[in-house]
Amino acid sequence: MSNLISMDHHGRTARLELEDANIRRFTAQVLDVSSEGIVLDRSAFYPGGGGQPPDFGALTFDGNYCRIVGVRKGDDLCLIPNEEDPLPSVGATVEGVVDDVRRFQLMRTHSALHLLSGVVFRDFGALVTGGNMEPLSARLDFNLGEVPPGFKESLDELCNLEVSADRAITTYSLPRQEAFAIPDIIRTAKNLLPDDLEIVRIVDINGLDVQADGGTHVSSTLQIKRMRIAKVENKGKGFRRVKIELEE
Ligand SMILES: [Zn+2]
Repeated sequence: MSNLISMDHHGRTARLELEDANIRRFTAQVLDVSSEGIVLDRSAFYPGGGGQPPDFGALTFDGNYCRIVGVRKGDDLCLIPNEEDPLPSVGATVEGVVDDVRRFQLMRTHSALHLLSGVVFRDFGALVTGGNMEPLSARLDFNLGEVPPGFKESLDELCNLEVSADRAITTYSLPRQEAFAIPDIIRTAKNLLPDDLEIVRIVDINGLDVQADGGTHVSSTLQIKRMRIAKVENKGKGFRRVKIELEE
């Protein structure tokens, strides 16, 4: 699933989580506060995209505590405050705290989906046509026709073999031309890359899967821990929906 980031900024906000998916605390300056939300000069809150939901967390300032319950993406990245909580003023310095439990579950789930799509492509030749994820549960749709008997069980085994293989997961940016030179870089049935995109962010599961992607991921397949193929649904001709669940 591709939410493609061509830069390390969204509007006026430097996106710290793209550089380092492990940042959970950061200091920032408040640039704007409006009904749209709070705009910071830098943030480690993943704003949502590419199927990965946004982070939750809080901002602390002068002994105050403002919960962040979502992110609105417009010209700027607007952190959505909990309605009853105090708001920081423009110019204030705040400490941002990202909810680590939710984020790490989403990183594991997102990486599990890339692993699944890599296995299904390698062993069954099918491409992803859609998907969705919540912390610890997710689905991918594939353009997959007939499946062999015991497909669900063998897919479960194949995926967990790749988890155990402890494959490194790395992210990097490439110029568009170089990215397109990688075979199968767009592991979706449709080409989602905008024409004007010059730099492509790549998520690489070493030896298994290379995709253009803007999400946050764990650094090794081992961190996904056990992933269960919960369900394989036949949604019509050449359309299979695979549901996964991860343990806590
Ligand atoms: Zn993805």
